[in-house]
Amino acid sequence: MEAEGTRMAPDIVPPTRRNCERCGRTDVWDETVENWVIAREDGNRRVGDKHCIHEWDINGQYNPIPGEPTPTE
Ligand SMILES: [Zn+2]
Repeated sequence: MEAEGTRMAPDIVPPTRRNCERCGRTDVWDETVENWVIAREDGNRRVGDKHCIHEWDINGQYNPIPGEPTPTE
């Protein structure tokens, strides 16, 4: 159990969850794969609309999935 009482996280904490304001798609950050994965709620995957140009309710500061590949190799 983590300590309670710190639910009001300040904005400096990187987001671990994002929600599309257009289609309802919800992703959660998976540290294992270092990528966003589709959230599961009540056994349903919050896939939203696959054709949607997702409008995430977080700003782009922590988006590790840019529109073009990163030259890391
Ligand atoms: Zn969307």
